[in-house]
Amino acid sequence: MTRHCMNCDTETALSRFEHEAFTIERAGWRCDACGEVEFDPDSAQRYAAAGDALVLRDMERQRKELRRIRRKLGLTQVAAARLTGGGHNAFSRYERGEAVLLPAVSNLFRLLDKHPELLKELAQY
Ligand SMILES: [Zn+2]
Repeated sequence: MTRHCMNCDTETALSRFEHEAFTIERAGWRCDACGEVEFDPDSAQRYAAAGDALVLRDMERQRKELRRIRRKLGLTQVAAARLTGGGHNAFSRYERGEAVLLPAVSNLFRLLDKHPELLKELAQY
């Protein structure tokens, strides 16, 4: 199908747009000339909903992973919060999805997951 691209002003073939992380039927159009993506209101709504669902799934995955690693390390939520410098209930809030997990905390716990012996090298928590 040929459409007029509103970005590069080219009369070009616009192909169906598919996000690399998910596929949505009739999600929109991608300009083969400049790469711009166009949505009509209906497809924009479906795309936004799919993007929101993707973010929520990833946050849920992060929460479960953080809880699994904390328990593996034998840390209470309070001890984990002291270790990472958060408030006393920071981990409870992370694990309930009430606070956005800081990348530094996520990175530290992913490293400790692979090298749990390094926990004893950290300051007293
Ligand atoms: Zn274009």
